[in-house]
Amino acid sequence: MDLKFLGRGAAFNPMEGNTSAYVKEGEKLLLLDCGESVFTELIRRQVLDGVKEVWIAVSHMHSDHCGALGSLTLYCAEKLDFNARILLPKGDERFESELRQLIRLFGVPDQMVDYVPESSNMGFKAFSGFRFCQTRHAPALDCYSFAFETPGGGVFYTADTATADGIEAFIGQHPRFEHVYTESINAEKHPVHLPLHVLADLIPPEDRARVSIMHLNGAGCEEAAKALGFDVVRCDG
Ligand SMILES: [Zn+2]
Ligand SMILES: [Zn+2]
Repeated sequence: MDLKFLGRGAAFNPMEGNTSAYVKEGEKLLLLDCGESVFTELIRRQVLDGVKEVWIAVSHMHSDHCGALGSLTLYCAEKLDFNARILLPKGDERFESELRQLIRLFGVPDQMVDYVPESSNMGFKAFSGFRFCQTRHAPALDCYSFAFETPGGGVFYTADTATADGIEAFIGQHPRFEHVYTESINAEKHPVHLPLHVLADLIPPEDRARVSIMHLNGAGCEEAAKALGFDVVRCDG
């Protein structure tokens, strides 16, 4: 699955852009997270050109992951003449109501956005299934990772996470996984992010080239990740 990154920074490292990725297939676009810098990057890179279907999956309500939802959904409705489709994790009514409220507060009326339960039938060729996987991040904040069933063996995208449990579970179910994209931080311990050494304990060296680090905080994270044999995402273009 060809994931392209619009940014790879952590919340306080905005010069690298907010971490966000997309899959584009013809007129269809799936966006993973929609932080403050994302709308600018979508326009600057002309990603929305020719697009007639926009799906958005939001991992959690930190603004480096959701801060551009208002501009993007309004742009879809008013400039592109279709409603963006916001994916929702099944059975999480609080997450759904907070997301609806957030978009309302951004000044986008309910009728300009479609809310769609997570689905295996989104019509993309790159993956046959998509689901939200709850993870632990900041206290009192629901946070999700994203799992894809792909012809290559499955792709997992952690978004923000304090734990590697979701990756471990995914790899347990997908031992020949295609790729894992995960946040990580170059720190011994951290209350809301995943230390690199915890990831290194889980992923054997021979698999690390298929594990890409994102959400870089700029404190030597890229160098430390590469020294351990992990890949680091790039934001070409
Ligand atoms: Zn973040
Ligand atoms: Zn966060």
